[in-house]
Amino acid sequence: MSWFKRIAPKLLSTEPKKNIPAGIWIKCPECGETLYSKDLDKNLKVCLNCSYHFRLTAEERIASLVDDGTWTELFSGILPKDPLQFTDSKKYKDRLKAATTKTKLEEAITCGEGRMMGQRVAMSVFNFRFMGGSMGSVVGEKITRTIEYALAEKLPVIIVSSSGGARMQEGALSLMQMAKTSAALYQLAQAKLPYVSLMTDPTTGGVSASFAMLGDINIAEKGALIGFAGPRVIQQTIGQQLPAGFQRAEFLLEHGAVDLVLDRRELKGQIANLLGIMLPRG
Ligand SMILES: [Zn+2]
Repeated sequence: MSWFKRIAPKLLSTEPKKNIPAGIWIKCPECGETLYSKDLDKNLKVCLNCSYHFRLTAEERIASLVDDGTWTELFSGILPKDPLQFTDSKKYKDRLKAATTKTKLEEAITCGEGRMMGQRVAMSVFNFRFMGGSMGSVVGEKITRTIEYALAEKLPVIIVSSSGGARMQEGALSLMQMAKTSAALYQLAQAKLPYVSLMTDPTTGGVSASFAMLGDINIAEKGALIGFAGPRVIQQTIGQQLPAGFQRAEFLLEHGAVDLVLDRRELKGQIANLLGIMLPRG
């Protein structure tokens, strides 16, 4: 019977077989189709059946927009502090540590320079996985430095937002980043350098209320949730039911709040095209 005791648990086991690596199949939350992860990656994480847009990491986003081998990261090593010694259910310091461990990132934004269809651009890309892409002092500082870098180098700026808004653990210091980044963008406009804002799922709070809506062209990625406060808060405040699709990219386009809604697979070509039109000649 010893051979049976050895084999039986394996036969009865409901755990996946060892030769099928986890994560190779991904189920689309929209249409329920089971997708092969390599096919999904090749399609920029857009469902091959229904075009549902899965969220991207900053690294994946940069790879989807920037020409291969042209990305140089800038302003790394600027790390968040805890000036208020803030504690809610956890210490802010511990939340930061946990986010760094989980994402292997320093902060909720990655900045750098690269080329889009040959055109040099300065770019800041949010990492939603790092504390919900919240904007604290470091995020505001790195965006501002990206804009200042673009001014010095005479480059267009692209900011890819995905954020829950200002980081409450840094209080008013977070809110100040709205004004700081907006002031830097004003200087960019004075220098007649274009700024393209790309809002991805989700772009809310202080980010949507500052630089994300200040683009010379404001682009929303297909299906993205974009708004200031969440629907529940608005519903309670105004005491009315909200219309279907409220705060989705397509609804905002219909009501004139964004200029374009694009499928992820068209973004690189369309943005490069727009920059070609907006950049000063010579
Ligand atoms: Zn789907």
